[in-house]
Amino acid sequence: MATNKPNIAIILIDSLARTPFLEALENDQLPNFKELTRKATLYTNAYSPAASTTPSIASLLSGYYSIKFGVRSVRDPIPSKMPLITDILHSKGYTSLAEVTGPLGNELGLRKRFNYYNYRVKGSSTKWVKTLKKKIETLNQPRFLLLHIWEPHLPRYYDGKNILLGNLQTDYKQYMKALKQVDSIIPELLETIDNTIFFIMGDHGDKIAKSLLTTMKLNLIRIQKRIPILKDKIEGITEGTDFAGHGYKNLPIAAETILITNATSIQETTSQAISTLDTTAEIISKVYNSDLPGCLNLDGQPLTKPKNKKRTIFSFSCSAANRNRCRLVAFTDDKVHIYDIYIGEEPLENYPRVFASILNYIHKEKLFITSAKMRYMKCYKKYSKS
Ligand SMILES: [Zn+2]
Repeated sequence: MATNKPNIAIILIDSLARTPFLEALENDQLPNFKELTRKATLYTNAYSPAASTTPSIASLLSGYYSIKFGVRSVRDPIPSKMPLITDILHSKGYTSLAEVTGPLGNELGLRKRFNYYNYRVKGSSTKWVKTLKKKIETLNQPRFLLLHIWEPHLPRYYDGKNILLGNLQTDYKQYMKALKQVDSIIPELLETIDNTIFFIMGDHGDKIAKSLLTTMKLNLIRIQKRIPILKDKIEGITEGTDFAGHGYKNLPIAAETILITNATSIQETTSQAISTLDTTAEIISKVYNSDLPGCLNLDGQPLTKPKNKKRTIFSFSCSAANRNRCRLVAFTDDKVHIYDIYIGEEPLENYPRVFASILNYIHKEKLFITSAKMRYMKCYKKYSKS
């Protein structure tokens, strides 16, 4: 079908951490990414809206900070009332496909929000990329693709196996191996999504253990977690280790990632601070080929036409083990403000004043109500006519 709407792909590389990526790029360890940055825009100052996969993906696919819809921690499902970009794209004739792994299983509730949703085992990206082209070719155009890659996630994966145990390598070396594996599939992946506006980014960053001793401590904790008797003894340090990885404890470093896109017509590297949830605003303005209407109240702004280059960017995450232990980080004017938030044992939603003040701080607007999706779709309808 001929179409004037662009094909769009989000390539989400799990735990894509800014500093090691830029170091590896500088040292010519990632030749394919390097080549790509000559033809596309590299944002070296990109921040993820959350420090774990689910809240981050909920934000990226909606353009809103996910806590507005109660998605705070990695095991929170994405509620059906949360407006996602696929709702809009489907109404514009798009076919959507998600190719996912890691924690993006059925329980997340994303399957029904895409036309096609395929889950594969962790660390299988090299094989997967070889079968992808055929799958994508069968889809009607325009297409929206979410392609999720797992390899750099802790324990890091290389050649289809995780490289956690039984080797005396620092976590940093293991991370680099995983990153090089991702680099190796980039040409094939880009060929597969030829003629597509792409956004390559981390769902969040990651803290990497650089010394061997720290890596060994980290591995010891991971082994202990697998042994039931020892598991009880290490409660309290199981959630979000400080040695490496992401999660709320490792904010703000876990929010630091990068974004590469061909959405802009200029080829450059820029240190302009952006949030990865700006992607949603960029996609919407590309699909509608106009400015965003105010009624959407998106938390992001288009990458190509940012309204406010000096705005504060936030990252908010809660612990997987106790979703009432949270951290909010505000990146503003080269300063980083960190707030630790603990709201008893009750759900955060039971404390409307505290919750509202966090939201107020983030968005200067009142709590979203259940009719958010309706409001959102109404706004788009109006937008379509204009
Ligand atoms: Zn993740």
